[in-house]
Amino acid sequence: MPEWKKRWWMWGVLCILGCGVILHHTAQKAETEEQTNPVSSLELNEEMDTMESPEEKEDQEIKKIALTFDDGPHPVYTERMLEVLEEAEVPATFFLLGQNIEGQEKIVREIAEKGHLIGNHTFHHVQITGLSKEQACEEIEETNKLIEELTGTGTEYVRPPFGTWNEGLESSLDLIPVMWTIDTKDWTTKNVDSIVNHVVKNAGENDIILMHDSYQSTVQATERIIRLLKADGFEFVTVDEVLFD
Ligand SMILES: [Zn+2]
Repeated sequence: MPEWKKRWWMWGVLCILGCGVILHHTAQKAETEEQTNPVSSLELNEEMDTMESPEEKEDQEIKKIALTFDDGPHPVYTERMLEVLEEAEVPATFFLLGQNIEGQEKIVREIAEKGHLIGNHTFHHVQITGLSKEQACEEIEETNKLIEELTGTGTEYVRPPFGTWNEGLESSLDLIPVMWTIDTKDWTTKNVDSIVNHVVKNAGENDIILMHDSYQSTVQATERIIRLLKADGFEFVTVDEVLFD
C-alpha cells in the first residue's frame, strides 16, 4: 500500500475511535446529570420526608380526631372546604341547617358523595331545649327530610345549636347528640393563626373539633390544621368513628 493510502487509512481509524470516545463520554455525562439534577433530587427528598421506616410507623400510634363543621351548607365556603378536604384526602362531618339547604342542594349531595358524614343542626338554628316537644321534633324532622331527599339517607346524628340538649329529647327524637371537645371559636376570631394554634395546642386522641364552614379563615385554618396534625400522627375520621370505635 502506498504511503499516502496508509496515512488516510490511519486517520480514518483514529477518527472513528475519537467519535466513539466522545459519544461514550456524552452518554455518561447525561446519565450523571440526571442523577444529580437538582429538581429530581428535591422531589426525591420531599418523597423521603413523607416516608417512614416500618419501625417509625410502629412507634407512632395512630390517634383519631374528627373535624366537624356547623351551620352549612354555605353558598361559597362549603365548596371550598370540600376542595381542601379532598386534596388532603380527609373525611369530616357537616351538621347542616335545614334553612340553608334551599338553593344549595348540589353541595349537600356532594358532601355525601365525597364520603363525609352529614348531621342535623335543626332547621332554624334554635335552642332546642327551649321548644315544645312538637316544635323540637319539627325542627329536626324537617331538616332530616331534606337530607334524606338529597342523599338517600337521613341522619342519626344531631348537633344541638348552643350545645343544649336533654335526655328527654334523645328518647323522643331517636338521634345521637354530638357535642365537641375543642371549640375553635372560629366565628368570633376569624383569625387563621389563632384557630390553628388553639387546635394544635389542644389536640388529643378522639377529640371532636368544632368549626363552621362559613368563613374563608376557617377554610385556610383547616388546611393548616390537617397538615400539622397529620404530621403529628393524627388520623382524621368522621365523628361516628370517634364515638363508637
Ligand atoms: Zn350552629
